[in-house]
Amino acid sequence: MGESVPMSPSTVARAEIVVDLAAVRHNVATLRRAVDPDGSGAVRMMTVVKADGYGHGMVEVAAAAREAGAEWLGVATIDEAMALRAAGDTGRVLCWLTVPGERYADPVAADVDVTASTVPGLDEIADAARRLQRPARVQLKIDTGLSRGGATAADWPGLVAAAARLEQEGLVRVTGIWSHFACSDEPDHPANDAQEAAFRQALEVAEAAGLRPEVRHLANSAGALLRPSSRFDLVRCGLASYGLDPAPGHTADLGLVPAMTARATLALTKPVAAGAGVSYGHTWIAPQPTTVGLVPVGYGDGVPRHASNTAETWVGGKRRPVRGRICMDQLVVDLEGDQARAGDEVVLFGTGRDGEPTAQDWAEACGTISYEIVTRIGGRFARRHVHPDRGDE
Ligand SMILES: *Cc1c(COP(=O)(O)O)cnc(C)c1O
Repeated sequence: MGESVPMSPSTVARAEIVVDLAAVRHNVATLRRAVDPDGSGAVRMMTVVKADGYGHGMVEVAAAAREAGAEWLGVATIDEAMALRAAGDTGRVLCWLTVPGERYADPVAADVDVTASTVPGLDEIADAARRLQRPARVQLKIDTGLSRGGATAADWPGLVAAAARLEQEGLVRVTGIWSHFACSDEPDHPANDAQEAAFRQALEVAEAAGLRPEVRHLANSAGALLRPSSRFDLVRCGLASYGLDPAPGHTADLGLVPAMTARATLALTKPVAAGAGVSYGHTWIAPQPTTVGLVPVGYGDGVPRHASNTAETWVGGKRRPVRGRICMDQLVVDLEGDQARAGDEVVLFGTGRDGEPTAQDWAEACGTISYEIVTRIGGRFARRHVHPDRGDE
């Protein structure tokens, strides 16, 4: 770089998402201890990094999770799995969302585990293995009650038998059997017991057909934390790895740290008079004279418009409510007459450590879940990964 001018440390970011990878490593390590308290290795960890690592950056989060000991990474699509391989990840990776006609040759050649829920899907995978002269690593998925992906109980024996035949032919290796909860964030919901029982039954059918999978797995973050009996050989933790609570009101405080902070710089501040309407539609009218601040992000950047008039931000060490509608590029916050100035930092959400709002607070403000807040934010936010524990802020 020689002659390049270093960026001034005072260069402000209009809007940026800062992802603390030390927090990710801490969370993954904490979750590993929580699900495998005696450290026997009986319960392995899959960190789920689909959807660009829930908005945190798939490749960066994947590397952090590996450092913290995640034996597996989980993604939805083959493209995501291949992106992990292209970034140099050589560990176990499972993907689970495919359509007929998918290019199975790529994951089979790259030693990625793929998921089959139907016999035609399994046959497509076997065809790729035959052409490549290399056995495919296949996990079979049973629908135990979510009624989303997975084989029905009626189709399960046929799927298992087909997989056993293909295994004998050397075309596939059935590496896993798995399912997914519908209500794990409600630990007392009767569906949890029913799904776990159905899963155990499906495992017996598979075992009777001669399948000996490396991993049997059912639990996502909430299941892993709240239902020890659902841990089997592996847990698939997404949300909790990012430091967010998968079952607010139910989970014990494990000291997980939210990894994402969404921050911006105040573009402008100004007084508004009592009676002035703020933002489109004048859905908020100042009841008394106040000062407002213009935050240069909006729904075009994934800031939910549903948070209009409900969410809070953090400026100058205080909570500052969003006033009026969130626009495509901007939103307005109430500084309540304080001396905040253009150029000051606005935190939309962060760790909550100093009192700033969290992604969970934003989720509650707009009637959704924190998954959606962190996964959808992006747009024109810059994204920066930091390792504060390595002196890199
Ligand atoms: C997204 C996903 C997970 C992770 O769920 P969290 O609730 O974020 O832990 C686990 N398994 C499957 C099949 C998923 O699609």
